[in-house]
Amino acid sequence: MCPGSLRAHRFLEPPPKPTCTDTTSHGLPSIHKRGYAGAVLTDLVQIRQLTEMHRADTLAFQRHLAAHHYPDGPFRILARTVEQQIDCTACANCCRQTRVSLSEAEIATIARYLEIESSEVVRQYTIPDADNSSARVLRHSKDGCVFLDGNLCMVYEARPRACQEFPHLSVSTRSLGSRMSSVFRRAGFCPIVYNVLESYKKLIGYHPHPH
Ligand code: SF4
Ligand code: SF4
Repeated sequence: MCPGSLRAHRFLEPPPKPTCTDTTSHGLPSIHKRGYAGAVLTDLVQIRQLTEMHRADTLAFQRHLAAHHYPDGPFRILARTVEQQIDCTACANCCRQTRVSLSEAEIATIARYLEIESSEVVRQYTIPDADNSSARVLRHSKDGCVFLDGNLCMVYEARPRACQEFPHLSVSTRSLGSRMSSVFRRAGFCPIVYNVLESYKKLIGYHPHPH
């Protein structure tokens, strides 16, 4: 694989602590008092199967959210709470399932970290982006991202911003409504997203209609 010693996984830094756990000001009940972010499901096979099995319910939930315009604050707080409950170093599934595109500055950062030229990073570790021929994405092997070793990122300190912020729930400045499809798409492979959405249903009192 690529040079560079094993350092740390992308997620070894703990996510920021929630600054507020009481969401009553948003018109929704407190996350912690009601235990919405309780036990989490982390089994990737189970998560994929449940997501496939409940595809119609998920679509209905997505439509419900689109129609109701809930405030974003409680969703972000819930996301931070769930992020603290899940050990990403035991998962790393996003490094296997997603493609990371790179800016020139991010390529230069990786090059400095590996002590090679940017052109070498491009040549060895990237391929053209299928959606934009002038852009580059990180190369994948059958085991995921070219920089993934087991569950560890070999360029952790120099990883691109998309990797630092994945799954983009608590840190994104965009509202849930404006990025609903991408959030729901990630629920099938990311335990954080899956558990946040399941807990969010409870938080807002959503009950699926029987088919
Ligand atoms: S897929 Fe989600 S839970 Fe798994 S490592 Fe990535 S961010 Fe963490
Ligand atoms: S650079 Fe690759 S291995 Fe590292 S965090 Fe990003 S996707 Fe994962």
